[in-house]
Amino acid sequence: MNEEQRKQQAQINQEANFDRIKNTSSDDMISKYFQTNYEPQSPDIKKARKRRKEDVQFHYDFSIPEDVATVGKGKKFLIRTYGCQMNEHDTEVMAGILTEMGYESTSNTEDADIILLNTCAIRENAENKVFGEIGHLKPLKLEKPDLIIGVCGCMSQEESVVDRILKKHQHIDLIFGTHNIHRLPQLIKEALFGKEMIVEVWSKEGDVIENLPKVRKGKIKAWVNIMYGCDKFCTYCIVPMTRGKERSRRPEDIIQEVRHLVAQGYQEVTLLGQNVNAYGKDFEDIQYGLGDLMNDIHKIDIPRVRFTTSHPRDFDDRLIEVLAQGGNLLDHIHLPVQSGSTEILKKMNRKYSREDYLELVRKIRKAIPNATLTTDIIVGFPNETEEQFEETMTLMEEVGFEAAYTYIYSPREGTPAARKTDDVPEDVKKKRLYRLNELVNKQSAESMRKYDGQTVKVLVEGESKKDPDVLAGYTEKNKLVNFKGPKSSIGKIVEVEITEAKTWSLNGIMVENTVEVN
Ligand code: SAM
Ligand code: SF4
Repeated sequence: MNEEQRKQQAQINQEANFDRIKNTSSDDMISKYFQTNYEPQSPDIKKARKRRKEDVQFHYDFSIPEDVATVGKGKKFLIRTYGCQMNEHDTEVMAGILTEMGYESTSNTEDADIILLNTCAIRENAENKVFGEIGHLKPLKLEKPDLIIGVCGCMSQEESVVDRILKKHQHIDLIFGTHNIHRLPQLIKEALFGKEMIVEVWSKEGDVIENLPKVRKGKIKAWVNIMYGCDKFCTYCIVPMTRGKERSRRPEDIIQEVRHLVAQGYQEVTLLGQNVNAYGKDFEDIQYGLGDLMNDIHKIDIPRVRFTTSHPRDFDDRLIEVLAQGGNLLDHIHLPVQSGSTEILKKMNRKYSREDYLELVRKIRKAIPNATLTTDIIVGFPNETEEQFEETMTLMEEVGFEAAYTYIYSPREGTPAARKTDDVPEDVKKKRLYRLNELVNKQSAESMRKYDGQTVKVLVEGESKKDPDVLAGYTEKNKLVNFKGPKSSIGKIVEVEITEAKTWSLNGIMVENTVEVN
């Protein structure tokens, strides 16, 4: 297509876009999408459970098609990310693809030629935020009809969400699912040159796509996906339906990625997965789990290695034995417990009891006496009694968690728990969350006090958000430290003497003649 044809096509698209936005919620149009572009599939736990026997395909042949290789030249993109680290990392991949297509990044919506909302479906309020943002973007689209607005991530895997966008938000140009990220170049082409909303959501189990380009958020810490999906089917959770089945990347691909990051000067990697310690369970040709992978990465010259998130059920002895070697394998373990009540854990399908969890904690502490434990907790699961909630409070103290992400249970369509009637009033749930958070704050503050007067190793990430004269970084145990020091220490591991402990952070001063540990 030459320049003249491209201009004509842009003119046609502009008119079509105007028509589409003006004629919102045409039922004819919606049924047409469903027939041609989109096979509606509600999150369905029965179907999802049957998927485990399907083969995982590995693809190493990603490339940008020639006809769209320069489509982004002179244009800008903005990706807004909601939710977990997995989404953050998917954004890095999408940014990589867009950059290879010639786009440049911007943080200003008005400057953007393409805006992607990378969404989270884990709780209702996460979804509400995204719908709010979709609404806010409508005037911009009316002003700038050539702007492409896309919705991707976990929400786009839900039929009800796609349906709602098709019916009420015709200013959206593109919806694509978590299994379709590598198809972004083709989807952008369709959105640029087609007249209709493009919807491509594969409700498949998922493959492993290697060699995707990435533009990482920083140059100090990096995410490395080691596996995708989840087969745990906790009764409250939508993730097994939005992210496909558990599938592991091959160890050699992961190790190569970590080595490459070392060569680029990265100081810390976090191995990522919804259920990171189920790593390797799907391999049929080798016996190789997270413990083995950590053992191999332990030998690589990278100062810090973390992993998240682990499931208590898959936390095996081999992993504990490997972590106990220390060195670059950090002794902060995020181990979501969800509830302290065995009955609630059973209803959640977590497949461990309170006692099993405590036994695992004992094992970890025996092998790694200084281990710091943090967790995730859900309060107000359907019909949770006051006694069952109290068991969560006592577990919190018994384990001595130093931090916790706490949530009120949010019903998710298609999950078994959402079908239960619930006798716990919302205000009771809120009070429980408040009480739990008070305890979390108290335990966090106590854990911080231990560092007062101590010297800790801090990986310096940059200037503090609140004060550019102060530097900020994290200790091995993931405690935020704000301190005065030279800007030249950014990107390095330095020693900082702690002068003040707060509830969620530490203040300090950099020790003179500090020894760099890299
Ligand atoms: N795979 C991890 C695990 O099993 O612990 C966590 C993944 S999930 C993205 C992060 C946290 O969100 C969970 O640990 C849980 O506490 C919370 N969560 C998931 N579904 C929820 C729901 N329906 N309502 C409230 N919190 C939820
Ligand atoms: Fe969701 Fe985590 Fe349970 Fe998987 S293990 S279903 S991601 S809470």
